[in-house]
Amino acid sequence: MVTAGSDPQIAQMTQIERRGNECVAEERSGQTCSPSSSAQSAKSADKKDPHLLAYIALGSNIGDRAKNFHAAIDLMNGVEGISVLRVSSFHDTKPVGGPPQPDYLNAVAEVETDLPPTDLLAELQRIERRLGRTRAAHWGPRTIDLDILLMGDTIVDEPHLTIPHPRMHERRFVLEPLCELAPDAVHPRLKKTMRELLSGITGAE
Ligand code: AMP
Repeated sequence: MVTAGSDPQIAQMTQIERRGNECVAEERSGQTCSPSSSAQSAKSADKKDPHLLAYIALGSNIGDRAKNFHAAIDLMNGVEGISVLRVSSFHDTKPVGGPPQPDYLNAVAEVETDLPPTDLLAELQRIERRLGRTRAAHWGPRTIDLDILLMGDTIVDEPHLTIPHPRMHERRFVLEPLCELAPDAVHPRLKKTMRELLSGITGAE
């Protein structure tokens, strides 16, 4: 159901937003937006090891969706133990499941973190609350949704946290922006690359 790319207006918007994102990441890291250079940034040097590359899915379908993304990226970068390295382009998508609701903007952020998985989730949920997210309806409209997709090779199976995200491999709106950043990253359970998982999706979802 991803429509970005086919609509010239959306494609144009995506380009603009992508430039905006890259500025955010560059300003914050003080480096160009690549994992290797950011690993040497001043902010990273202060952190405890081990550092993991994690991929966070962003979704929004209420209010100024791009503004919500920029605010979430800024807030993530402000957390001790999280550095945003790169952000995908923003994809305009149709809602999948849930009640009738407005179209979504979806993106993926690549972050470097030394937080344990549960602490990372708690920080992301704190940012969701700060940006006004309420959990009124399951799969209902939201100001901002932040999900942990991957954290290096880490596998987590806890009541409130599953990593890799349990539905990421079925979702085009996740895999398309993720493949812009990490097409060769391997799903630690399925042992397939993100590019392979995306090519395996036949439906519009
Ligand atoms: P959602 O409404 O899609 O944001 O789902 C949020 C719920 O999913 C929370 O209760 C989380 O504890 C749970 N959850 C499980 N795994 C993950 C994950 N990898 N990333 C984010 N939330 C997760």
